[in-house]
Amino acid sequence: EVKSADIVVIGAGGAGMSAAIEAAQKGATNVVILEKMPITGGNTVRATGGLNASETQYQKRDGIEDSNDLFYEDTMKGGKNLNDPELVRTLVENSAAAVDWVNEIGGDLSVVAQFGGASVKRIHRPSDTSAVGPMLVKTLNAKLDELGIPVLLETKATKIIADKDGNITGVEAEDENGEFVINTKAVILATGGFGANPDMVVKYAPQLAGFITTNHSGATGDGIEMALELGAGLTDIEQIQTHPTVNPNTATMYTEGVRGNGAILVNDEGNRFVNELETRDVVSASILAQPNEESWLVFDTAVRESLSAIEKYINEGIIVEANTIEELAEKTGINKENLVATMNKYASMQEAGEDSEFGRKSMEVPLTKAPFFAGLAKPAIHHTMGGVKINKETQVLKEDGSVIPGLYAAGEVVGGVHGGNRLGGNAVADIVVFGRISGDNANGYVLANG
Ligand code: ADP
Repeated sequence: EVKSADIVVIGAGGAGMSAAIEAAQKGATNVVILEKMPITGGNTVRATGGLNASETQYQKRDGIEDSNDLFYEDTMKGGKNLNDPELVRTLVENSAAAVDWVNEIGGDLSVVAQFGGASVKRIHRPSDTSAVGPMLVKTLNAKLDELGIPVLLETKATKIIADKDGNITGVEAEDENGEFVINTKAVILATGGFGANPDMVVKYAPQLAGFITTNHSGATGDGIEMALELGAGLTDIEQIQTHPTVNPNTATMYTEGVRGNGAILVNDEGNRFVNELETRDVVSASILAQPNEESWLVFDTAVRESLSAIEKYINEGIIVEANTIEELAEKTGINKENLVATMNKYASMQEAGEDSEFGRKSMEVPLTKAPFFAGLAKPAIHHTMGGVKINKETQVLKEDGSVIPGLYAAGEVVGGVHGGNRLGGNAVADIVVFGRISGDNANGYVLANG
């Protein structure tokens, strides 16, 4: 049993593992990671996009003209300017080094692609078909192994202990043998978000009551609670990103492209109820107002052929397929008579070029090419953008801006990086950049206070 450590990292997702590795690379010899789940990876392993970075060697190789300033502007704009400018500056300025670092420790982020909200090709991904999350988690696990950094699985941190002056002195934790304390001077909070804690979501964002989640079950906001007990401030805690179309059984997200390329939404009664191309929050709320708080994403073979992502959903078994609309209704339980009428009406409105019901601007296809498809869809909580308040050194701050000595935080547990809306590719950038900074600074703190 571990009784003391120089640095205790709480959470073995992308941020915590990056932090521990960086601390060790800077010379720390006694780092330990606590992870409450039986495996590492948290929400990080679910990341499918990539890592946004500017002024990288790979952009230069490909002749892509990007700059830290442009990345900064895109991120602020995407975040509705709610972001903390200093944190965004830090993110962009350290992003190219983050790509190199991941590659140096054995990862692969050598392909650059275009992604939503980015003015140029900026998202860095693996060169094979693997998704970024699994690649990153595998790389970080292997490096932790190589460096001999222990990851205590199924070990949940319950409290961060401070002395009367507020300096960190230890962490209370529990594993299968019961409760114990690890003495330490520095703690890195990397517990992720709270997207899988419905009570906490509703407390800060009551309009999200009833939402399912795309998050792993450990995303319960423990780190935020522990930091609050020490008087930490919170930033943008009510900012939660939802995704309107998620399969409730598998939590698979249907990309926005399905609707963008022509799919409509109908309720169990077979009726449309919203302009499908409205913003995420509007579409989400309208689905929850339908019978059984659910909807069906309905499309035809023309839409299927326009989007490779749809093959993945079909292979996963979450899409109902039928040769006629009548059969589609029978297989899904959607009201048959209404569904047939809805599809006929949509085809004629599409031909006329005007959605007289809901004002949808672009109706790509008439949805008349058999076979037909339907996928059950409900809104889901995706990313909690708010969290613990930090400065650019990742020190946790109290409400008044003063530092909690020895306490650092990085990743989804932190607020301010993404403002009111996180761009795809910025979460992975966030965890590597700020994870590394927290590891470096916690190590420096231990050296200075040892
Ligand atoms: P990030 O992207 O910020 O790294 P992740 O969700 O990927 O966030 O990882 C956070 C990790 O922290 C998860 O693996 C989660 O299980 C773990 N975790 C959350 N709360 C605790 C806790 N109280 N004790 C130990 N580990 C925790």
